[in-house]
Amino acid sequence: MDYNKLAELLYPDIQKTPEDVEAEFPPRQLPEGAKVTRFAPSPTGFVHFGGLFPTTVAERLAHQSGGVLYLRIEDTDAKREVPGAAEALIRTLSVYGVSFDEGAILGEDGKICDKGAYGPYKQSMRGPIYQVFAKQLVREGKAYPCFTSEEELEELQQVNKKEEIKNTDWQAEAEKRRAEMLKRREFTMEEVEAHLAAKDPFVLRILADGDGEKKIRFTDLVKGNMEFPENDEDFVLLKSDGIPTYHFAHAIDDHLMGTTHVIRGEEWLPSLAKHLQLFRYLSFKAPKYMHIAQIMRLDEAGNKKKLSKRDMGANMDDYTRMGYCPEAVCEYVMTLLNSNYEEWRMQNPDKSYRDFPFNIKKMSVSGCLFDFNKLNDVSKNVISRMDAATVTQRVTEWAREFDPAFGALLDADPSFAERIFAIGRGGKKPRKDLATWADAKPYMGFFYDELLAYEGGYPEQYDRSDIRATLSAFLESYDPSDDMNVWFEKIKAIGQALGYTPDMKAYKADPSAFRGSVADISMFIRFAVTGKMNAPDLYTVMQILGKEKVTRRIESTRAGL
Ligand code: GLU
Repeated sequence: MDYNKLAELLYPDIQKTPEDVEAEFPPRQLPEGAKVTRFAPSPTGFVHFGGLFPTTVAERLAHQSGGVLYLRIEDTDAKREVPGAAEALIRTLSVYGVSFDEGAILGEDGKICDKGAYGPYKQSMRGPIYQVFAKQLVREGKAYPCFTSEEELEELQQVNKKEEIKNTDWQAEAEKRRAEMLKRREFTMEEVEAHLAAKDPFVLRILADGDGEKKIRFTDLVKGNMEFPENDEDFVLLKSDGIPTYHFAHAIDDHLMGTTHVIRGEEWLPSLAKHLQLFRYLSFKAPKYMHIAQIMRLDEAGNKKKLSKRDMGANMDDYTRMGYCPEAVCEYVMTLLNSNYEEWRMQNPDKSYRDFPFNIKKMSVSGCLFDFNKLNDVSKNVISRMDAATVTQRVTEWAREFDPAFGALLDADPSFAERIFAIGRGGKKPRKDLATWADAKPYMGFFYDELLAYEGGYPEQYDRSDIRATLSAFLESYDPSDDMNVWFEKIKAIGQALGYTPDMKAYKADPSAFRGSVADISMFIRFAVTGKMNAPDLYTVMQILGKEKVTRRIESTRAGL
């Protein structure tokens, strides 16, 4: 067969050679050790937590090494494309600290545009580039056309699938497929010419040289040494519309764009033999690969399940609505990514997570477990380190969008809100009440008359007249200019007069000797002022509320008893 002639027949319009294209994509000039990584989404939906995970690895590896992170849009499957998904993806990722140095970026008009010298960064715009290499493979006898119409192909696949289910004789099945494949490889130049003259569509297939009985060895940077059967399947490189399959586009784009590390989900591992074969056929140096395990979750029965698209916590946009701050989510991702992250964080409480020396070797091989409780713990720590002004601003921003009535209350008096959020902040052991901005309202809503709600009531066992007497005595003696000690001494004295001891030790040793303790007295007052059994430091709460509100609340509680 005259392969040159075949190549000209199939791709008469392609004049460029691979050398021409290579010259347009010269190697990057980067410092030694700099890594080039990418995020290569298919724009078919939202950013999934399982997508943020490898992307954070890509971001860290690139930026930690002085390299480049770029975004490539893999839109070769037009049927599955969702309009606007690519734009939304970029926006969401930037919220989570993933910003791209290069690639498809959002222009000022909010539309996608290219930045960088290795574009176009949208695969649908790269058709002629793929065809240059396709033509070369045909010329070298490494790829061939297959004039089966798409419908026929689909039909064939359906039949195969149906047979797969029924047929348990795998050996016979494999032989049948092999025979079909070998038959496809046999054609004459005249047949090709006749098909082309009749404008029959064709797909371009690789001519696989692998032996399925033999193994190739490969080292994944996360999973270590692995072995796979060689690829012996003539898979499709270009579909009948000239658009490449993932395999072909991956090899060409990652080569031309200078990717040093391909970080992707482990669902691509079964295709790796195909990819390595392609890199070899094209005389490209294969990149290093990191295949990241799926994120798992525990179901109600405690079994590990894949975190699926529909699961709570899968869609990154849900986190915004739930009120998680992106810093906390990033911090949580880091704890999942590197086993020594938490230890580092304890030693470096004030540093950004970007200062952490991320290490591929410290990654989990078998996959991570997504856990909201852990995320909440991490988040509480992150928020506890923020100052009151920041917390006020962030809660207000969140509330304006997701709880406008609460947002209006915060906006009405920002400095009042800030004094509330300052309670227990700063210092060595800050309070950890908030895991999300949505937690703010239940935590501090009682400061606002509009949100004050008395939960339940005083527990049954307390004598109502003792409570009434406490509240009256407190109102009589309350002076907001008292310092905390004087204020507390007064409370102790009120209790003592009613038979509630200020001596907690003595009370614990023999509770029956007293009507109660000063803790009960404090609770009587706390509940009257806040409507809660547990609230932040009561002295500070009263200072913030001011005499008028404190008095009014205590009076009305007393009247209701
Ligand atoms: N477009 C592929 C996907 O959406 C990208 C895989 C890769 O990173 O190479 O899964």
